[in-house]
Amino acid sequence: SIADLAPVKSDSLLALIDLANADKRPEKIDVGVGVYRDSSGATPILKVIKEAERRLLETQETKSYLGGRGDVRFAELLAPILLGEHSSDERIAGIQTPGGCGALTLGFHLIKAANPGARVLVGTPTWPNHAPIIRGCELEIVEYRHYDRASRQLCFDEMAETVKSARPGDVVLLHGCCHNPTGADLDAQQWAEITALIVGRGLLPVVDIAYQGFGDGLDPDAAGLRAILDACDTVIVAQSCDKNFGVYRDRVGSVWIKTASTSSTATAMGHILQISREMWSMPPDHAAAAIRIVLDDAKLSADWRVELDGMRGRIASLRQRLAAADPQFGYIAEQKGMFSMLPVTPEQVVRLRETHAIYMADSGRFNICGLSDEQVDRFASAVLEAIGG
Ligand code: PMP
Repeated sequence: SIADLAPVKSDSLLALIDLANADKRPEKIDVGVGVYRDSSGATPILKVIKEAERRLLETQETKSYLGGRGDVRFAELLAPILLGEHSSDERIAGIQTPGGCGALTLGFHLIKAANPGARVLVGTPTWPNHAPIIRGCELEIVEYRHYDRASRQLCFDEMAETVKSARPGDVVLLHGCCHNPTGADLDAQQWAEITALIVGRGLLPVVDIAYQGFGDGLDPDAAGLRAILDACDTVIVAQSCDKNFGVYRDRVGSVWIKTASTSSTATAMGHILQISREMWSMPPDHAAAAIRIVLDDAKLSADWRVELDGMRGRIASLRQRLAAADPQFGYIAEQKGMFSMLPVTPEQVVRLRETHAIYMADSGRFNICGLSDEQVDRFASAVLEAIGG
C-alpha cells in the first residue's frame, strides 16, 4: 500500500541548496545550484523576456487551450536557431514541450514504442535525471565513461569503442553542447568520428541540447547536432529554452524528430502527440508565448542575442580567470558551459563547506557562474588547499 512505500533517496543537490541557504557566513560561495547567475549572484529575468511579458499581458485575449503542439509559431521561430539550414528539411518536425525534461521523456517513450529492445548508450557522469527518464520509459541503459575526473580528460576512445560495439537500433544519447556536469564537449573531429560510427552501425542518435549559446555561441554550439543531421536519417533532438532564455520555472523546450521521409515523420509526430496527451495533455503556454514574441520581433530578437552573449561572456571570463589562477585549473578554460568538475573527494567537499563556506556537489561538480567576480581568487586558493595543490 502507499503507506508501506520505502522513502525516496533524497536528492543530494536539493539538500545542498538547503544547507547553503542556512549558512549565514558572509563569505559564503555557492557553486552548487545549476542556474546562471550574474556577478551579483542573481538569476535575473532577461530584459527581452520582461518586455515580451509586458506585451503578453496587454494583448493576450484568452487562456483557452492551445492544443498538444503548444505554440506552433514558437517552434517555427526556434527551428532556424537550433537546426540552421536543416530547418527547411521537411523530414524534420518539432513541437513545444514542458522543458528539456518533457522533450527527453517524449523522445524516449517514442523509442520504446518503436523499438522496445533498444538499449541507450549513456556516457557517465551525466545529468542525474537522464537515467531515471530513460528507465522510466523501460529502456535498458549501457554506460561508458564520458570523462575521467582524475586526468580531467574526455574518454573519447571509450565512447567510440562503446558505440562500435552497439547493436543496430541502439540509441546514443549525446549532449549537444556544454556537457552537464563535466563541461567536456566533443570537438568537431570527434563529432565527425562519432557520427560516422553511428551511421555505420545503424544507431539512433538522441541529441540533448539544453545550453545552446552558453559555449561558443548559438551556431557553433549547434554544430555537432547539425553534423548529426547532415549524416543521419533518423534523429531525435531534445531542446531546452530554460537556460538560454532564463525562464527555468516556466518550463519550455521542444522535441524534434527527423526520419527518412515526411510521411514517417508525420506518423512519429502523431505518436509523440498521443504520448504527450497521456502525460500532460499540452505544454504550459507562458514562456513559449514570451519567447515567440521575442523571436518574432527583430529588435527583441537582436537584444536577446546580446543578453545571451553577456551570459556566455561572463562564463568564459570566469573560466579564463580560474585557469590563470593555477596551472592545475588550466583544463577549465578548455571546457564549455556553466559546469566543470574539480578533482576533489567527497571528504574534501565537506572540508571546503565547513572551513571555507564553499558549497558544491559531492561529485566535485561546480557551477562556474556561482562565483562573483570577487570570489574567484579565494575559491581557487581554497580548492588548491583542499586538494593539497
Ligand atoms: N538536459 C540537460 C543536460 C540538463 O542539464 C537539463 C537541465 N538542467 C535538462 C536537460 C532539462 O532542462 P529543463 O529544465 O528545460 O527540463
